[in-house]
Parts: sequence; structure tokens; C-alpha cells
Amino acid sequence: MKTHAIFTGSELLSGQTLNSNILTLGQKWTEMGWKLESSSTIPDEAQLIKKSLLFSLENHELTIICGGLGATSDDITRRAVAETLKLKINHSDKIRSELEEFMAQRQRTPQEQWLKNQSEHIESAKLLDNSTGLAYGQLIKYGSKLIALLPGPPSEFKPMLEQELVPLLNSKKNFTQLNYIVAGETESSVERRCKELKENFPQIDYGFCAQPGIVKLSLRIPQNTDAKAADNLCRESFPIEILKSGSLPEEILNIARSKNWTFASAESCTGGLVSAALTAIPGSSDVLTGALVSYSCDWKNKHLKVKKSTLNKHGAVSHECAHEMANGLREKFKVDCGVAITGIAGPGGGSEDKPVGLVYIATFTPSEILVEKCIFRGNRDMIRQHSLSHALNQLRLQINNK
Ligand code: AMP
Ligand code: MG
Repeated sequence: MKTHAIFTGSELLSGQTLNSNILTLGQKWTEMGWKLESSSTIPDEAQLIKKSLLFSLENHELTIICGGLGATSDDITRRAVAETLKLKINHSDKIRSELEEFMAQRQRTPQEQWLKNQSEHIESAKLLDNSTGLAYGQLIKYGSKLIALLPGPPSEFKPMLEQELVPLLNSKKNFTQLNYIVAGETESSVERRCKELKENFPQIDYGFCAQPGIVKLSLRIPQNTDAKAADNLCRESFPIEILKSGSLPEEILNIARSKNWTFASAESCTGGLVSAALTAIPGSSDVLTGALVSYSCDWKNKHLKVKKSTLNKHGAVSHECAHEMANGLREKFKVDCGVAITGIAGPGGGSEDKPVGLVYIATFTPSEILVEKCIFRGNRDMIRQHSLSHALNQLRLQINNK
């Protein structure tokens, strides 16, 4: 199903709203094995809707137009599409009486113009139900082409796309997509390690998307290719790096849970990011005991028993301090595993020996404390995100290597 999407809305181009519907559409199309070939984002202007639609009709089987189905003056999609395709607009009595009933239930009197706009129905279009809003979607068959009009609000776009439009498109799969999270590697090292895979399966499309501490690797596999064999070879290429779950925090929770272990964190420069990442996952309370944000030297000493002499001699950002933070956390809070992080996230506070980006990460299990010295690049946010991912991956590897 060669698809082009047109996102309408001046707010999408003026920096007021992020186009999140393209994520929803891209993810759904990938899951279905269909190809979203291209998209355009245009302001609420009839001439541009017309131009984009004509372009799309030349090259694509399906055009999805998102937005502009509401009742304000900038909602012009139905009219612009009808004019472009030289189709008539009817007024649906069914929609009109539903709208009247909706307003009556709320003891409100609808404006005539609003009723007229909202009940517009392009001739021959199939109406798509809107389970979360008022504007119907419309699916138009135009020769061999299909044009779907869907509402802009993400809370309406997603259910209509998934529940109404997709079931009507009985299109063959073009490919199967396999997604992997590879932890602790850079984008270029992941690509290098895919060499054998690429030589064996040159017909696969490889996608690499780097995020702090992980690379999302995707294989878009044509239907005539043995996906199982490609999957096996991919997993052999990254025997310990590919996560078994969808993210590092989930992986830590699953590993700890399988051992009946509890977890805690002591965080300085990450200020609670580790505990935020774990608590973002529902059901983490059976593993996560708690977290201490020990930002000052005073708190490192008072609550984690980091020695004053360690802080004076080596400083708060040191191998020794990270080790004592982990030890204090383990002793005081009686947890089985966890992480302690201390570093310089910047932009200030760096020196020649201790530059911005220097972070010591201690991870512990019941049998050992491991400290790694890391130097991360980037701004404060990137350094903190890298510290989070590195800490969780360091603990994952430490536990798995036992
Ligand atoms: P519309 O259906 O064009 O009236 O859009 C209604 C509201 O939905 C807009 O004000 C936006 O806030 C939101 N919206 C429209 N298109 C998108 C999109 N592609 N991604 C995210 N939000 C959108
Ligand atoms: Mg709009």
C-alpha cells in the first residue's frame, strides 16, 4: 500500500504543535508491513491541499489527509478535497441529528453554521466513525486510488486510524520489520558488527537510530526473505548487547525480579533520573525500594557514610566517592542491587583533571561493587541521559556475567 500522508495545520509549521500523528501513522504502517513512502506538512490553505493531493494521487495508492475536519474557519479539508476531485458535498441528515442530540444532552443549542459544517459528507465517501470526537472521517474511492480524511487531534486520529481505516485496507504486507535495542554500543560499531548480516542479507533495509547509551536497530525484511534466519544471525552478532525487553529500565526490573532482588539508587548529577525511569514502568514497586538524591557532600557523608577524608582527598566526583556511595546505599538500605552516580554534568564546574562529562558510576550486587569512570560528551541533558543508560547497562552486564 504505497501511502502518502498530508498533515494540515498552520500550527504544525509555526512551532506551536509537534506533529505526533506522523509517529502514530509510521508505527502502525510499519507494524502492518506497509510503506509510508512520504509525507508533507502544509498550512490550512485550500490551494496547498489541492496541490499536495494532486501530487499524491499521481504516485500513491492511498493518500491520508490529517486535520481540518473541525468546525472553525481554518477547517477546510472536506471542501478543498471535494473541489480538487470535482465531487459534490452533501449534508448528512444522520450526522446532523446525531449532533443535535449530542448538544441537547448537554442542554446547549447548536449554531446552524456549525451543524452545516460538521454534517458535510463528500458524495460517495464512506464515513469513518469517531469514537472519541464529533467529526466523522471520510474514505473516498477515486478510480483505483483511495483518499482518507482523518481528524487532527491525536486522541481522535489514532483510534480512527487503527479501528476504522486499517480494517478497510486489505492490503498485502510488503515487509516484516524486526526491531532490536542494542545497549552499550555506538551507532557506527553496531553498523560494523552488522557486516556479516549485511553480506548474507543485502536485500534487507537496515535502520540505525542512536539514543543515549542505546542504538535502535531495525531490519525491514522483504517478504521473500527468511526472516527467522536473519533474526538468528542478528542475535548471534550481538550475543549480549541485544535487550530481551523493550528498554533498559524494564530489563533491570525483569532481571532483578527473576532473582527476587530489590534495587535502590543514590544519585548526584542525575538527580533522580534512575528512579524516575524505573517508576515510569507500572509494577516496579516489587523491585524498587527507593532512591536518595545525595547532591551535596554533606548528604553523601550523612546519609551514605561517604568518609569526609574521601571527599577532602579525592573529591565528590571520584572513583572512591562512587564506591563509598554504593557501599553506603547497600548497607543502609539493605538492598540487593543498585547504582550510585556522581559526576560533572556541566556546563560549569569542570577543570583540567575533572572535565565536564566526567562521571563515576558504581553498580552493585550482593557480591561486588563495580566502579567505572566514564567521559560523556554533549550538553547537560545528554550527559545526564548517558549516565542513566550507562548505569543501567553496567548493572545489567554485571548481573548477567555472574
Ligand atoms: P484539526 O482537526 O485540524 O482541527 O486539529 C485540531 C487540533 O489537533 C489542532 O489544534 C492541533 O492541536 C491538533 N493536531 C492537528 N494535527 C496534528 C498533528 N499532526 N499532530 C499533533 N496534533 C495535531
Ligand atoms: Mg487544523
